[in-house]
Amino acid sequence: MSDKTRVLVIGAGMSGILAGLKLTQRAGVEFLIYEKADAVGGTWKYNRYPGLSCDVPAHAYTYSFEPNPDWSAVYAPGAEIRRYFESIVERYDLKPFIRLNSEVTRCEWRSGQWHLTFADGRVDHGDVVIAASGVLHHPNIPAIPGLDDFAGSTFHSTDWDDSAKVDDARVGVIGCGSTGVQIVSALSTRARSLVHFCRTPQWIMPIRQREYSQQEKASFRADPELIDAIRYGDKYQGVLRRFEAAVTNPDSPQMAEIEQIVRENLETSVRDEALREKLRPNYRAACKRLIFSGEYYEAVQRPGVFVETGAIEVVEPRGVRMRDGSFHALDTLVLATGFAVDRFIRPTRVTGENGVTLDDIWSRHPTAYFAVSVPGFPNFFMLNGPSGPVGNFSLIDVAETQWRYIEQLLDVLAGGKAQSIAVTRQAFDAYEQWRVTEARKTVFATGCSSWYLDDQGVPNTWPKGLPEFREAMSKPVLQDYEIKAGVLSR
Ligand code: NAP
Repeated sequence: MSDKTRVLVIGAGMSGILAGLKLTQRAGVEFLIYEKADAVGGTWKYNRYPGLSCDVPAHAYTYSFEPNPDWSAVYAPGAEIRRYFESIVERYDLKPFIRLNSEVTRCEWRSGQWHLTFADGRVDHGDVVIAASGVLHHPNIPAIPGLDDFAGSTFHSTDWDDSAKVDDARVGVIGCGSTGVQIVSALSTRARSLVHFCRTPQWIMPIRQREYSQQEKASFRADPELIDAIRYGDKYQGVLRRFEAAVTNPDSPQMAEIEQIVRENLETSVRDEALREKLRPNYRAACKRLIFSGEYYEAVQRPGVFVETGAIEVVEPRGVRMRDGSFHALDTLVLATGFAVDRFIRPTRVTGENGVTLDDIWSRHPTAYFAVSVPGFPNFFMLNGPSGPVGNFSLIDVAETQWRYIEQLLDVLAGGKAQSIAVTRQAFDAYEQWRVTEARKTVFATGCSSWYLDDQGVPNTWPKGLPEFREAMSKPVLQDYEIKAGVLSR
């Protein structure tokens, strides 16, 4: 019998890998990471679509303790980011702790332990569960009539079909979030014709992509402070602070500045007036997650590219019929239609104390105290869980902040000092009330639809900036937790 705290991590994406490598450095724990896929990387494993990159500067989209001097460009391509996470798994020798092809179907708190059941019938149990199962994971397949009758290839962006006709073919892309915009930008030079079905146009923040030279990479290797200067320097941090000020106060000068930039981008980049008006959103900038792109406006002005802002009536075997009767003949139809963002770890059935499930407690919308803990679910902590910070910044930073917080909760359990810890109902309710009140004041609540909103139209997000988040998460308020004494049962 071990006297170590046994931690089971669910998910081997960015957050799960972070948890794993931090747990290797922690005394008094044993752990495993369970991953349902056949490889690590999470979102960067699943997403392989043309044009995939991260619109957060690459040097800011790394673990803070593992800078990467070799990023090929200011905004790293998706495949390179996947390799970065794979290299971290190698470097920290995490493979022996990772179980691939291991889908957790049930997760039950019984007799002071978490009991996990897997799709293949295996079981395991542990003292603590870290749910690192991602947010943008379960594809949203739109209920468009006739979709199943399409004779060409159709698939969700996260499930790219390499056999689909794209080059010199007639391609349609439904959806103009960050994903659709990246795909359209990439395919605009490859497809014979390209229709971007964009029922709600987006504001576009211009960015300039460029490759790093060999000399620059050598400088980054020789002097890591040059990387820090990009990540922590005034320029990038200033952008973040201005963005936070804007999001949290839609009447601020910072918001006016963002609005001016995106409006000017539209005015100066789109030459044809009719197209410009078609692309002009009728809601405030940053209400939906801002699209960062230096390519999209150019892409939609290429010959053979058509932006369709009308309503889709039906998908027919040979293409898409619009409500106005017009028809787009297609060989391939890509669904860049986003994700079912209210799922989180579900459909895994998670049952806490007294038989209460996450489905019960999240019957209205998923939420958690500081996005980490839920009352009645002892020793169950989430990374990038519901109602956490979202926006145009690195979720790696968010996960690291949350991990430092979770480690302090693990300290409470260390050495069997306590059996369990979970936020109290009272603290959870008070926190949620504050969060919702503040979230209603953000730009996300100024009258657009987006994946940030819950079923009541309230932003399901951390309502302040990242510095406030780091400050609030620096030390758990243990009075907000129910801590049960007793030796961990095994
Ligand atoms: P999304 O932002 O949720 O966008 C989904 C798009 O599909 C929207 O344009 C939506 O239109 C459209 N849509 C959904 N159902 C439809 C239907 N039935 N008919 C027509 N259109 C429909 O999804 P996403 O683009 O995959 O992006 C999700 C998030 O992933 C982003 O916000 C971002 O956080 C992350 N992401 C990040 C990067 C990056 O570079 N960092 C890249 C890609 C994605 P409506 O707006 O009208 O609903």
